[in-house]
Amino acid sequence: YKGACKLKKILIALAVVAAVAAAAIFFASSNEVKREFFAMDTFVSAKVKGFAAKDAAGGVSTLVRELDSKQLSRYTSGSEISRINSEAETVLSDEMRDYITELLEVGKMSGGKFDIALGAVSDLWSFNDSPRVPSTDELTEALSRSGSGKLSLSGNTLTRADGCIVDLGSAGKGIALDKVKSYLSDKKISSAVVSVGGSVLLYGKGSFNVGVRDPWGEAGRSVMTVKLGAGCVSTSGSYERCFEQGGKRYHHILDPDTGLPVENGLVSVTVISDSGLLSDALSTACFVLGAEGGAKLAAKYGCEAIFITEDKKVICTDGIKPNVTVLADGYTVVE
Ligand code: ADP
Ligand code: MG
Repeated sequence: YKGACKLKKILIALAVVAAVAAAAIFFASSNEVKREFFAMDTFVSAKVKGFAAKDAAGGVSTLVRELDSKQLSRYTSGSEISRINSEAETVLSDEMRDYITELLEVGKMSGGKFDIALGAVSDLWSFNDSPRVPSTDELTEALSRSGSGKLSLSGNTLTRADGCIVDLGSAGKGIALDKVKSYLSDKKISSAVVSVGGSVLLYGKGSFNVGVRDPWGEAGRSVMTVKLGAGCVSTSGSYERCFEQGGKRYHHILDPDTGLPVENGLVSVTVISDSGLLSDALSTACFVLGAEGGAKLAAKYGCEAIFITEDKKVICTDGIKPNVTVLADGYTVVE
């Protein structure tokens, strides 16, 4: 399992894109435009087909970058999320109000295990070149400033308790897909596959075969393919942003009750939804909840989910099981 923790950004990116390499037969024919770039701290790939494909592929790139720099990036001063985290009270754009409303709702539905007000805690876990395990004191202090109880939203006004940090990292890539989807429809694009890190938009008629990465395998290998129609599919994995210290592996999906990486036997969760925001948020939430609780949460939202465990079991919700084909050795689908 060692070596699964890829610290170098570019490696993460390549791994992720391989994970979600949506090999649509659909795209075998010509007038397809493909663009690949780095945005939102990850690898983005846009394959677009249609009359205005070239234009649209460029437009997707601008759109994703702008969403990040203007709204979601915590590291861009002046972005909406930066304003939120520096003011006690912020008047939100209608879009941001809707994102936060929906994400707070996922938080409630998850019994608090999904929490966008966990930034103070996740900031203690850096996954850069010199990662380290935070001390118990540090975690306790950061937890005392965290939790959606520290936020209140009334109309467009968000009030935030001092020291609490809002982090939309669990859903930003999915939000990007929703924006891309409405952009492609305005541009009258016939079909597209756009991946932002581990979140993929499948757009257009027909069906798509999406690969889900083998957590133990090489970057390009898939555990399985899933046959899907148009929609969004997001994978959250414990192999994504992680490091090892003292023989133990630490990753970026945290239990809001302890501030520690979730250890529940899962290595990845994939959620399928019409909504990019939901597929992304729920993949993170379902990871924290575990296979049983996660499947229940997905069902409440009418979404399908696929869980991969450390012992190479693939657990599918009923609606998606017939569409899953396991490719890698050693994996078994749980009946
Ligand atoms: P990625 O960003 O790698 O695609 P996810 O969508 O699973 O992964 O989101 C993980 C990110 O969400 C973390 O990096 C952190 O910023 C944030 N996060 C971690 N734990 C939680 C949690 N329990 N609830 C909400 N957000 C979380
Ligand atoms: Mg997510």
